[in-house]
Amino acid sequence: MGAIKTIGLLTSGGDAPGMNAAIRAVTRAAIYNDLRVKAIYRGFKGLITGEIVEFKTQNVSNIIQQGGTILKTARCEEFKTVEGRRQAYETLVKEEIDALVVIGGDGTLTGARIFASEFDYPIVGLPGTIDNDIFGTDATIGYDTALNTILDAVDKIRDTASSHERLFFIEVMGRDAGFLALNGALASGAEAAIIPEIATEVDQLEEVIKKGFRKSKNSSIVLVAESEKTGGAMHYADRVKKEYPEYDVRVVILGHVQRGGSPTAFDRILASRLGEAAIESLIDGQRNILLGIDNDKVVAIPFSKAIKNDKPVDPELLKVLKILSI
Ligand code: ATP
Repeated sequence: MGAIKTIGLLTSGGDAPGMNAAIRAVTRAAIYNDLRVKAIYRGFKGLITGEIVEFKTQNVSNIIQQGGTILKTARCEEFKTVEGRRQAYETLVKEEIDALVVIGGDGTLTGARIFASEFDYPIVGLPGTIDNDIFGTDATIGYDTALNTILDAVDKIRDTASSHERLFFIEVMGRDAGFLALNGALASGAEAAIIPEIATEVDQLEEVIKKGFRKSKNSSIVLVAESEKTGGAMHYADRVKKEYPEYDVRVVILGHVQRGGSPTAFDRILASRLGEAAIESLIDGQRNILLGIDNDKVVAIPFSKAIKNDKPVDPELLKVLKILSI
């Protein structure tokens, strides 16, 4: 493999606020280092179909503050097949793209890892997902913004919950990870968090609910991570309604509102640092790594390690939540 002259850049999987800041950083750092940048639209799908545009510095002007991704994103089943990945490789050869920067979640990084080893192709991954479920990095791009969106919503719901003396189950995103629910609960002063990592029985909730109603606010808020493992907010609300009919129970599913919005300063800075580091890493000859943040330092984690390991939630946080909700 000769020196890298042109890099390709794509976003894939669920969109996350801060992806645009990362696109800007990768593009500008590449051009600063005399590399060409080819932007690939719609993730791995665009790599297969060749939806590619060369980017100059002005293509990424005025996007650092925008949520979503200007490159669009897509789920692409074809990329999970050998034939789909072969077509993607042919596009890269045709476009003379020497290395890729991919921004996305766990699935995206898994696809990138398979592709990189199949074709011996240099790829650097950046963790872009609101779920924060990627091993080896303290935070993922988009997580902080989503967490703040949740806080804003919970604060508002609390006003009506306490006026009507109600119990609210608020469902937040997170798929198989409880970071948004647990930290969202801690930061909003909720009574409890139900997360996929730890089983919660309905009777365990009674103590928590009573605690909320004992307070002067006379309301209770429980954050539930959307997951097959938890069954979601509806599942708990139905059970509580049946077993404790004295409570006035309501459900709010925050849904896609958590994905949108202007990224926080934290996410913009994280995305800018990781985007710039991606180009430096490729120039240094590094490949097949995920870049993350550990104790405020940019770190490189081999794809194999980042994908294989689950990122655990800190059980201390559950303890803190329990103590503070008395
Ligand atoms: P988020 O966690 O925010 O939803 P993600 O990157 O995990 O983001 P996925 O839908 O899981 O989102 O994956 C995005 C894309 O990555 C898939 O549509 C597919 O193209 C590719 N991908 C996922 N898993 C694999 C795999 N095992 N092999 C090849 N490609 C994969």
